[in-house]
Amino acid sequence: MEDLDHDVNVAVIGAGWAGMAAAVALTQAKIRVTVFEAARHLGGRARSVEIEGIELDNGQHIMIGAYRETLRLMRTVGADPDQLLLRQPLAIEYPGKFSLRAPRLPAPLHLLAALLTAGGLTWSERLAAMRFMTAMRSNVYRIAADMPVSELLALHRQTGALARYLWEPLCVSALNTPAVSASAQVFLNLFRDALDGARANSDFLIPRTDLGKLFPQPAAAFVRANGGSVLLGTPVRTLGKAPNGFVLDDRPVCYTHAVLAVGPHQLDALLDRFPLLAPTRQSLAAFAYEPIYTCYLQYPRDVSMPQAMTGFDGGTIQWIFDRGRLSGISGLLAAVISAGGAHQYVSLDALASAIHRELAAFLPRLPQPLWSRVIAEKRATFSCRPGVARPENKTAVRNLYLAGDYTASDYPATLESAVRSGVLAARLVREG
Ligand SMILES: Cc1cc2nc3c(=O)[nH]c(=O)nc-3n(C[C@H](O)[C@H](O)[C@H](O)COP(=O)(O)OP(=O)(O)OC[C@H]3O[C@@H](n4cnc5c(N)ncnc54)[C@H](O)[C@@H]3O)c2cc1C
Repeated sequence: MEDLDHDVNVAVIGAGWAGMAAAVALTQAKIRVTVFEAARHLGGRARSVEIEGIELDNGQHIMIGAYRETLRLMRTVGADPDQLLLRQPLAIEYPGKFSLRAPRLPAPLHLLAALLTAGGLTWSERLAAMRFMTAMRSNVYRIAADMPVSELLALHRQTGALARYLWEPLCVSALNTPAVSASAQVFLNLFRDALDGARANSDFLIPRTDLGKLFPQPAAAFVRANGGSVLLGTPVRTLGKAPNGFVLDDRPVCYTHAVLAVGPHQLDALLDRFPLLAPTRQSLAAFAYEPIYTCYLQYPRDVSMPQAMTGFDGGTIQWIFDRGRLSGISGLLAAVISAGGAHQYVSLDALASAIHRELAAFLPRLPQPLWSRVIAEKRATFSCRPGVARPENKTAVRNLYLAGDYTASDYPATLESAVRSGVLAARLVREG
């Protein structure tokens, strides 16, 4: 505490991954920070939840090797990614239909080998994929005008199994927006970082433990151990300007800086006393959102999938994660459905039954689940379409910053964009 800079006193509002990243980066810079979180738990849209006495997540998450800031900050707070994440080379498996595995070869040979050995692609599709990747590389992954991913794929003849099992699933999983409406430029940004860097950047990193332990909980411990505060169950309802900073509700403390790390749909009320921020409020009002549904199904302990992550197509399920293989909870499967669709219009019980039937068609003699639970995150992320006007971290009000997965960046709404945004907000505070 004695080491802390006494002239600066930062309020971070929101203890999701962006808010906690900002708080950790500020703490590292010896800046006093208080985090205010409305919920009684940390992590926001990537949090632990207890279901049937088991610590699970509000939604199955996956990272990639290119998430450099997330991995760096995990290490900073003592959460070892090598222990907590299952690292596996890029592998997409639709049993009996499509299979692609990147061998442990230096980039870009790993991708070349993956395409050459992929099951379920014709030779002309393999060549088309290589031509597409070469064309994107020679344009440095930039397109003159943004367009939907499906248009970009059609322009480059990425059709048939290539589109259905490779590009479209990667798009909806990464951008949480279907290829027909997703931003091709944001897709290419991820493509560049994941597929055109070091081989390890394309690795899938699948949590072996619940999300709280990956970052939010060790981050809060780090902040508290170094003189900061993290207050749970403490919503901030109004933000006002004081001569030397900001006041939150009717608290007697004045904060020199405020980092607003709430979700984009939660920001409006905190900005309404700042006329200068009317344009930001307008651009946020234009955001559309996409859901993510996760259905946990607990089967008897001997039920398992052939791999940790399996693709499904033609029905409701997009991916099945075998939590037995990942975190040792045998018989527990997590079905993930990203973006909007018909599944939103049936009851959660009917959805769980439909998912069980799809699984039963795949796993012969599958018994009824012992229990199942659907978690519907209706505003999981903003819809990442061409032309979304994302606000900068720095606002028109001095010493007031935004942080979150939705701020201006190369990336779609992900853990990495949230963490990068939090780190950037902290840097802006430091640089004044
Ligand atoms: C089901 C699901 C699956 C996902 N899968 C993936 C994935 O596989 N890979 C990936 O990279 N990303 C994934 N994402 C996206 C990722 O979780 C988000 O991009 C990220 O968690 C956003 O973090 P954030 O800190 O920007 O916002 P949030 O997590 O929304 O944090 C905002 C916080 O602010 C708090 N708050 C709001 N208002 C107030 C207030 N007035 N006062 C105090 N506190 C307030 C909220 O309670 C919340 O804790 C997924 C998201 C969901 C929902």
